[in-house]
Amino acid sequence: MGRPSRYDILFTPVTIGPVTAKNRFFQVPHCNGMGHAMSEAHAAMREVKAEGGWAVIATEECEIHPSGDVSPYVEARLWDDRDIPPLALLCDKVHAHGALAAIELTHNGPTASNLYSREILIAPSHQPSKYGYPQQARAMSKRDIAEYRRWHCDAARRARRAGFDIVYVYAAHDLSLAMHFLQRRRNHRLDEYGGRLENRARLLKELLLDTREAVGDRCAVALRFATEELLGDGGVTLAEAQDIVALLAELPDLWDVNIAAWYNDSIPSRYAAEGAQEPFIAFVKKTTTRPVVGVGRFTSPDTMAAQIRRGILDMIGAARPSIADPFLPLKIEQGRSDEIRECIGCNICVSGDMTSTPIRCTQNPTMGEEWRKGWHPERIAPAATDARILIAGGGPAGLEAARALGQRGYEVHLAEAGRELGGRVSREARLPGLAEWARVRDWRLGRLAAMPNASLYRESPLDAATVLEFGARHVALATGSHWRRDGFGRSNAYTADGECFIAGFARHPVFTPDDILDGVLERDAFPAGDVVIFDDDEFYTAGVIAEAVAATGRRVTLTTPADQLAAWCRNTLDYPHLRHRLAALNVTVLVSHNIKALAADHLVLTDVWNGRESTLPCAALIAVTSRLPDDALYRELAARESDWAAAGIATVRLIGDAEAPGLIAHAVYSGHRYARELDHPCREVPFKR
Ligand code: ADP
Ligand code: SF4
Repeated sequence: MGRPSRYDILFTPVTIGPVTAKNRFFQVPHCNGMGHAMSEAHAAMREVKAEGGWAVIATEECEIHPSGDVSPYVEARLWDDRDIPPLALLCDKVHAHGALAAIELTHNGPTASNLYSREILIAPSHQPSKYGYPQQARAMSKRDIAEYRRWHCDAARRARRAGFDIVYVYAAHDLSLAMHFLQRRRNHRLDEYGGRLENRARLLKELLLDTREAVGDRCAVALRFATEELLGDGGVTLAEAQDIVALLAELPDLWDVNIAAWYNDSIPSRYAAEGAQEPFIAFVKKTTTRPVVGVGRFTSPDTMAAQIRRGILDMIGAARPSIADPFLPLKIEQGRSDEIRECIGCNICVSGDMTSTPIRCTQNPTMGEEWRKGWHPERIAPAATDARILIAGGGPAGLEAARALGQRGYEVHLAEAGRELGGRVSREARLPGLAEWARVRDWRLGRLAAMPNASLYRESPLDAATVLEFGARHVALATGSHWRRDGFGRSNAYTADGECFIAGFARHPVFTPDDILDGVLERDAFPAGDVVIFDDDEFYTAGVIAEAVAATGRRVTLTTPADQLAAWCRNTLDYPHLRHRLAALNVTVLVSHNIKALAADHLVLTDVWNGRESTLPCAALIAVTSRLPDDALYRELAARESDWAAAGIATVRLIGDAEAPGLIAHAVYSGHRYARELDHPCREVPFKR
């Protein structure tokens, strides 16, 4: 089937200085937790994107000098010639599929750490380092500025030698000296690099000219530029950005524009929809004749084509949509848009960078496994046997296992106890802001619908007898998990005599996230009055439930024994948005407090540091502590292992939350891994190192 002609505009080439992009799909720079430390894995991940049809594939930010070392974050690195070969490998792999390779050179100045290099941090003016390291950055002298320009030129030349087609000057995300010089809060200089806008933009202009002179004969020079920081006058503001774009309009061969910082640019879907950056970047195309690329978590080909037709962008930039579906362009080109595995905006991919570990993706379980496990997002080994597979549970783990096994060609049967498929994804997607998470279910159901060898049964709870009768060779139990009501978690356990550690938990009603997902808030049985949410889980669940409860008009307090609310939300860039939203909803946040006792109408809290007790009115307590696997069926089957052979069963496996409760990403990965490894013995260390 051909593609609709309205998408043809996405497949017209674009001239970028001396190079030409074959279509309008541009994988903009994105971190991946592999970078210079795992260069083969990094190159393989980028190659898959090139194979998937992206015209341009960019690296993440690339350090140009030891004084801009961002350890412990793992990014690309071009400190000297020894860093060229791994990046040359990446270029070769990208070029093999007809794509252009781009590199984002940067020096992080006061946003570096130099924890590894032990160099002194540098900045436009004396200032603290951004990330709390206890050493300040020193003000750069004119000589330092000259040195910095030389490092940038040297890195650009090395990039050209490695084979890159596009070399970036980076002035975005508050992560580069070129941007730091623009910011009044960071640049207090009194010389020709400080003060009025032309002075603050001088270094950026010089870098663009330097880079063109160094590599512009063969490489395009791109500028990644933040048009707004949403910080007021201390930051880059839209008004100033308009002047800067006018000042530099024709200097780069390509403008790559977005908002800063990263938490605004890669904003989770909870807080912004597709194309949300348009008001901040639409002016750029009116100011320059150079091609403009921008991002907006674009997954709809209609939105993409409209962006180009309406003159907002020339190229569709994507980081997350290319992670969730490296083959997005090819699917549109081939008229298979309905097969796009759409990003859900959960930002689990970001957590790889934050934790300096290989990138993973909720929607795409092969992300980060291209080299070490040889997993491909579109291809999978055909079935090794004609075994029949039975899966219990239609949540993300069960659906992904069924889909991938179906793709392999196995006869696969999935039985779901409830009327609705999707498990926790369907349930959580009904919470405020999480609607897009249903894409995890919808993409898998769409793929399964096209498979004659896959059968789905709703309202079909399985017990051991049905499983034994079914006649499957392999059984996967993806039966999920439930939230605990007893308060057990990171901070509270049981007393020596087996009583719940928190007094009153056994006597008074305690609600759990499952109750909220089951609709308890809409029922008369839910008490009127103050609601306290106790968060010992430290990720998104408590916050989103606070939002749901606050929306009913109740007074909400969110309390946690941790020193920081929802600490893991920092790793997904949720944190600042979460705090703003809770503040806007008048949710009271109380950190460093554990629950000592639950009474009929109040809680007794303990300050975790001084042990002082206080009381808090509480008509209803929602405990978000930890979960227990729903593995009763597994235990039932395990007890009848002696019956398996007669029933033709070779293996029974727990997957997803039923094995160990985790993220949706973990459940999808677990289901995928089960499907990949079926009929294949696994090595002790199950991946290449
Ligand atoms: P995961 O995240 O591991 O996929 P979920 O909790 O999202 O787990 O989904 C588990 C699904 O399994 C739920 O939809 C639940 O209704 C279903 N389920 C639980 N027990 C059974 C069973 N015995 N037979 C069939 N389906 C079951
Ligand atoms: Fe999108 Fe989530 Fe995958 Fe990131 S992890 S690409 S946000 S689906």
